[in-house]
Amino acid sequence: MNDAMNTYTLLGADGHPYQSPVKGEWGGHRGSKIYGRLDCPAALRAIARGGYVRHRVFFADEATAVAAGFRPCGACCEDRHQRWKTTRENGRQWTP
Ligand SMILES: [Zn+2]
Repeated sequence: MNDAMNTYTLLGADGHPYQSPVKGEWGGHRGSKIYGRLDCPAALRAIARGGYVRHRVFFADEATAVAAGFRPCGACCEDRHQRWKTTRENGRQWTP
């Protein structure tokens, strides 16, 4: 097994998956369109319960997650989530 041959399936800014040699820095849920930390307690609980994994997606960085239409997780990114809500309520485009 050659580590250099390993690739990771990440989601691009257009919402389409692609193969990357670099592991994603952010996780997300395809159905609810929420992104968060890889060690997000809410995501890990959902994964432990089962059923979450097939909806799990990964992003190279936060900007890509946002560009793909995902919003910050309220459990692990509480401050971001709050700012996202405020931005939305003001009808502006959210940027991390
Ligand atoms: Zn989270």
